[in-house]
Amino acid sequence: MKNGFQRYLATRIVLAVLACVPAAAPLVAQSLPEALEAIDHVRVATRILYVTAHPDDESSSVLTYLARGLHADVALLSITRGEGGQNALGPEQGPQLGILRTEELLAATRAYGVRLYFTRAPDFGYSKTPGGTLKVWGDTALEDMVRVIRTFRPHVVINHWGGVRTGHGHHQAAGILTPKAVAAAGDPKAFPAQLAEGLDAWEPTLLLQLSRGDAVAGYRVPSDEISPIWGKSYAEIGREGFLNHRTQGIAAFLGSPFLRRPIALVRPDGTSFDPAFLARRLPESVPNHPYHRGASEAADRSLSTAREAALRLDWAASAKALAAAGHKIDEAIKLHDPPSDCAEPRLRWDLERVREGIDAALAMAGALHIEAQADRSEVVAGESFSVHVEVRRRADVPGEFGKPSLVMPPGWSVAKEEPEAGAAVRFTVAIPKDAQTPRSPHDWMLPWPAPLVQARVHAVVEAYAFDVTAPVTAQRATSTRLDTLPLTLAPAVTLALEPRQFVLPEKRPLRSSAKRLEVLARVHYYGAGAAKVTVGLDAPPGWETSPPQALEFTGAGDQLVRFAVTPPAKIAAGNYALPAWASRDAEKFRTSLEPLPTLPTRLWSEPAVATVHAFDVAVPEGLRVGYVAAENDLIPEALRRLGIDVELLDPVALAFSDLRRFDAIAIGIRAYELRDDLARANQRLLNYAAAGGTLVVQYQRENVWSALKPAPYPAKIGSPTVRITDQNSPVRFLAPEHPVLNFPNKISQEDFKRWQQERGLYFWSQFDPRYQPLLALRDPGEEETTGGLVYARTGKGVYIYTGLAFFRQLPEGVPGAYRLFVNLLSQSKAR
Ligand SMILES: [Zn+2]
Repeated sequence: MKNGFQRYLATRIVLAVLACVPAAAPLVAQSLPEALEAIDHVRVATRILYVTAHPDDESSSVLTYLARGLHADVALLSITRGEGGQNALGPEQGPQLGILRTEELLAATRAYGVRLYFTRAPDFGYSKTPGGTLKVWGDTALEDMVRVIRTFRPHVVINHWGGVRTGHGHHQAAGILTPKAVAAAGDPKAFPAQLAEGLDAWEPTLLLQLSRGDAVAGYRVPSDEISPIWGKSYAEIGREGFLNHRTQGIAAFLGSPFLRRPIALVRPDGTSFDPAFLARRLPESVPNHPYHRGASEAADRSLSTAREAALRLDWAASAKALAAAGHKIDEAIKLHDPPSDCAEPRLRWDLERVREGIDAALAMAGALHIEAQADRSEVVAGESFSVHVEVRRRADVPGEFGKPSLVMPPGWSVAKEEPEAGAAVRFTVAIPKDAQTPRSPHDWMLPWPAPLVQARVHAVVEAYAFDVTAPVTAQRATSTRLDTLPLTLAPAVTLALEPRQFVLPEKRPLRSSAKRLEVLARVHYYGAGAAKVTVGLDAPPGWETSPPQALEFTGAGDQLVRFAVTPPAKIAAGNYALPAWASRDAEKFRTSLEPLPTLPTRLWSEPAVATVHAFDVAVPEGLRVGYVAAENDLIPEALRRLGIDVELLDPVALAFSDLRRFDAIAIGIRAYELRDDLARANQRLLNYAAAGGTLVVQYQRENVWSALKPAPYPAKIGSPTVRITDQNSPVRFLAPEHPVLNFPNKISQEDFKRWQQERGLYFWSQFDPRYQPLLALRDPGEEETTGGLVYARTGKGVYIYTGLAFFRQLPEGVPGAYRLFVNLLSQSKAR
């Protein structure tokens, strides 16, 4: 058998190869269509904010039509990052899943052509009521929504969940909060600290929501129209973007009529509105000031000229016309200098946004492209790194294009600047010894914080000056893939531990294998030069651990260190921390920094600590378990921590091997859906149980279950899903003397303490009387449900279905969940 660390590496490699989220950039930058869109965007002044609760809530066709069809400036506000959901793609859960979902939604919004904002409100998993959601979100969601409105200043807000009174509490709460945020954003007395910082109160003019159901009312969004420049319908472009939601298993739903249904927009009171307001032309949007109206009309005429020239591929004329439009806007802005003289401070702000749009269009017309590559992706304080910057542009666009420069955090400096072939420049950047990653207080609002370093080119076309910037990134190439990575300021040394968790039975005679715990530390040195690093692992008093070890690095790289830890013969129940550390001279390092398995271009950092969970758990001698896992099931590894012999059953083993060698066979969550071979092998599994085995089936989803009917007697999984979302909700024992609740571990109320996120989901809603329900569970204010743990005799054996969320509890080391799961697997030994 492979040891844990080899398995860990193998898993990581397989996942990295099979399951990488693509950095989807479906539309080619600075192409003719993009240049036309950039010009069209400047000519439309409406800003639209579309509010949802989670990544994948959004209507991709509506967003794409508003942005690419009407050319409005559209932003999506997703209140959460979706970290409380299930991961259909990889092992990441919680905040790590939030990173994946952020990247997916960012790729989707790039395809829709919209901006992206978030709030700090957490996705804490399924919530049954808006009240329950609002209790957890507190004031944060509303405060942050108001800040986003005051920052982006939308004229129109679309409340995606407006008027929805059923389903997920997060959705209902988003629908309730959006009109409140719209009202508060315009109220100078609401969240005054934001105003003290310099934001202005902002009242959006029009609040809309979606019209659902069969008879849609209001303005029907014509997203099936074909885009004249992309040659696809807006709905098609949107669906391609929506496919990025891969951790949500979205591909399976792509053909669904739900995603193709017509959508209309209405006011919340059902009255109609003038759709022209969604795309007001630039001249119509400025107040009736004679000068401003004239300037914006002149700018719009120049933009129209720029568009016609672009269509003729006369890029020089297009750039000249854009510069002329820019001059007009500049003159209008100058009327407001100094800003305090201005009667219309909002107008100046709007004009600056127009200027940004013109600058972006000019970069498109000139195909002005900056490529800025660092020689590595992780850089270290006190060292230097180099950046190669190359600028390309259309030769026929006249103008002066300055040498590139770098925009860096305070204290960082260019130590050297050398010309390279083809007008490229190589910068050597010196990082101060005390450098820290710059943070801005509102980084949470954006998908990712601003790039660490940017390259900038100053350009002048027809005496109109503008800047173009691009983030400095690094590329990592293997023979089969090329990744673009953000530049990251990393600690000089990081440590990743494996395993990060141990389980120790509190009462031992210890099996010999459990006496000594082995912790592997992968020590990564990110520095460029040679270094001596000492690595150690601390343990509680009375525990024995190997002494610190000295490592020598000649440059950046990895080394493995193995620590042996021996706990005292008797320890009390509880969690014990084994923190690892590394030191270089006087500096100490205590964190990991690891690529996410499913998204290796993003790094995850956490304290380098292994935890020993000690609790009272009995495991029958020689218990042998077969396990049918879909991808990324963490339970087999969790069971092995107890010393249980777990064999993963692949399709061949499931079809042909003698299953009688197992005391129990467990089916992992959603395995019937994700493993085709399981339906084929189901009769073998039922025969195995009837011949005296124990078959334990964890939650499956309703659609697959009702199609396959894989249980020995009739049983239905509830639709809508029966779930218990309160992890502290009461549990009633329906058969206290039943072996499942007594062998080998006596289960008590204590075993339902400290559960994480939820009790369970996809419970049975109806089942044959031959099944015996063992527990009754109840969410606050609801009826009891008994389909969460159900037992039946079948022939000489046992069949168990459970929707209890063992998949969440075991990886977190929850003692009661371990004890109960061991009981499920031990029922063949109970008789
Ligand atoms: Zn949602």
